[in-house]
Order: sequence, then structure tokens, then C-alpha cells
Amino acid sequence: APVLLYSNRITGRDPENAKKNRGTMPQGKVALVTGITGQDGGHLAELLHNEGYEVHGLIRGQSNPRRVALEAEMPWINLVEGDLTDPTSLIRAVDLTDPDELYNLAAVSHVGYSFKNPTLTADVTGKGVLNVLEAVRLTGRAEKTRIYQASTSEMFGGLDYNRPGQGYDESSLFHPRSPYGVAKLYGHWIAKNYRESYGMFVTCGILFNHEGERRGVEFVTRKITHAVARIKAGLQDTIELGDLWPKRDWGYAGDFVRGMHLMVQHDVPDDFVLATGETHSIEEFLTLAFAEIGVDDWRPYVVQNPAFMRPAEVDILLGNPAKAEKVLGWKREVDFPGLVSRMVRHDLALLDL
Ligand code: NDP
Repeated sequence: APVLLYSNRITGRDPENAKKNRGTMPQGKVALVTGITGQDGGHLAELLHNEGYEVHGLIRGQSNPRRVALEAEMPWINLVEGDLTDPTSLIRAVDLTDPDELYNLAAVSHVGYSFKNPTLTADVTGKGVLNVLEAVRLTGRAEKTRIYQASTSEMFGGLDYNRPGQGYDESSLFHPRSPYGVAKLYGHWIAKNYRESYGMFVTCGILFNHEGERRGVEFVTRKITHAVARIKAGLQDTIELGDLWPKRDWGYAGDFVRGMHLMVQHDVPDDFVLATGETHSIEEFLTLAFAEIGVDDWRPYVVQNPAFMRPAEVDILLGNPAKAEKVLGWKREVDFPGLVSRMVRHDLALLDL
């Protein structure tokens, strides 16, 4: 009998039922998403479900605190136990779900945290990718399962001045500036290596920053919008931040997961940059976020704390999404002011404001 790794508490589904249900899906496709409790995992699971996929999510930990909320929000999802550092659990997850598409979104994904936990970051964000690839290959699915690997603009690191002002594209030089960026670069290259060595469909999305309502509060954009809403509610007086000058190419996560899906539907595996083609500083984000609550001067509310400054910083990231736009027909819909406004309004609504 198969080992039952699914959560049946809400869905009441088990692997056998899941297999039977497959025939009733409009497209009959099965997806396994790692990092299901994260920002992109939530957006992508919704997209795949709306497209008629049977969606499985890999969840780690004996009692992941995000599990209950996830099951309540997405009762149609099947959760499979597994950890990117545990190859056996990945083999089981892949074998049980038999996915047509596997989206590897799981990672230690916070740049600042990666400086404090570099070994863990290497194990999860770097070697974890190898474990996922091997789980697919060793279970005989090298030809069947299409894989998406979540690569990142942090692999560039802001030191490539080959094309000033034009933005990084798929051929730009890599120079990661954090343990996170270095680990992601290993993941990127091992993914490409499995594409070249075994002919596997492994596609890498080199995504620039993308934010939204699901962003964790440890990330600077959500930290700001969360604090702005609380300041408006009188629940806090100030917000502590690190450097305000770094510039990022910030897009909306909903647009970006659409791009991930398009990449996996493309006829050949490849590398694609997803970005907005605009870059804005944290200070600009602050200005727009406070303007949303009618505050013109944010300075009285912001305290700069060196504890949030990084040993090495990426000054500016600007992406060039021309290839994805041309080859995949991808186009982002939400612009920078729209993104900030959306996030602030969401955090205000959470406080009934
Ligand atoms: P999040 O930080 O929101 O989510 C990370 C996910 O990884 C969580 O679901 C977490 O689960 C899971 N995870 C962490 N460690 C493990 C582990 N050992 N085994 C299994 N799962 C684990 O990231 P995002 O959704 O924002 O990003 C998705 C991916 O895209 C990541 O790989 C990220 O590095 C990459 N990326 C993101 C960008 C962005 O701007 N958002 C830009 C470019 C790339 P748990 O609940 O257990 O903690």
C-alpha cells in the first residue's frame, strides 16, 4: 500500500482518489509546487487551480504553522510532507504525486537572513535544487516531468556594467553578493546542467523582485506597508529600516507567476528574465506608501537601524524582460505605484481601515 503522506483533514482526498480525479480535470495536468506556503506558492497554486490543474504542495515540518491557514484558503489542495534537505522525502513526494509539472519555489529566500544562516541557505537554496532534480530523475520521470527552477536577479549582484541603463538580461554576467545569491547560482547551474546532461525539461526563471499582498513581513516592502497601516491605526509610531538607497526592479507577484507558467508551457526549456524594466529605491517605495495614508513627509516615522544593513549590498537591479515578452508573450500588468497602493490598501483592510 502507498505511504499516505497527504493531509486529508479538509480535502478528504488521498493519493488513490487524486489519481482517479485526474481524469475529471479539464486539462488533466498535475502540478507539484514546493514552497507552497510562500508568497509565490500561494499565487501560483491559485493560478494552476483556475487552469484546471490538480495541485499538490510540498510542506515541511511536523507542525508547520502556515498549514491550517493554507488548507482553509485552498481546500482543493493536496499537501505532501517533504523537505528540500531530505532527498528521500522528495522522492516520495514525486512518486506519490506523479507530476506533469514541478515548480521548485522552496528556498531560504531572504537575503539578510542568508548572511546569518549561510550553511542552511546553501543546503536548502543550493543543494536542495539538486535533490529535487534527482528525485525526478531517479523515479524515472526525466522525460515526463517539466521543472521550473526559481532563479533570481540576486545572482547578478549589480556589478555588471556591460550594459549601463539597459538592464540585465539572460546573457549578463553573474556576480552574486550574498550567500543567498551564491546558493541560487548553484541551483541555476545545476538545473541547466540537468537540462544539458539528461535532456530534462528544466526551465529557469530569473525573476527580479516581485511583491504583493502575500509577501512575508520580513521583506522590506511588506514591512513598510504593514507598518504604514499600523501607524495609521495608531498601533505603532515608527518603522526601523536599513539602507534606503538600494534600487530594485519591483513587480507584482501575480504577474510573475503567470510568467512562470508560460515558461513551463513553452516548447523548449530555457532561461527567461522576468522584470518590469524600471528601478526604484526603497525611499521611493516609502514615499508612495506614506502618501497612500495622506502623509507627505515620511521622515518623522522612519528610524535607520544599522542592524538591518547588509555586509554587502546590491546597489541597483534593473531587468530587461524583452525575451520573455517576445518569446512567451508575457507582459506585466501592475506598475510600481499600483503595486505600492495595492499592498498598503490590503494592509489597511486587514486592520479594518
Ligand atoms: P518565500 O520566502 O515567501 O517562500 C519560501 C518557501 O520555501 C516557503 O514556502 C517555505 O516554507 C519554503 N521552504 C523553506 N525552506 C524549506 C525546506 N527546507 N524545505 C521545503 N520548503 C522550504 O519566497 P517567495 O514565494 O517570495 O519566492 C519563491 C521562490 O522564488 C524562492 O525560491 C525565492 O528565492 C525565489 N525568488 C523570489 C523573488 C521575489 O522577489 N519574491 C525574486 C526571485 C526569486 P515554510 O513554510 O516551511 O517556511
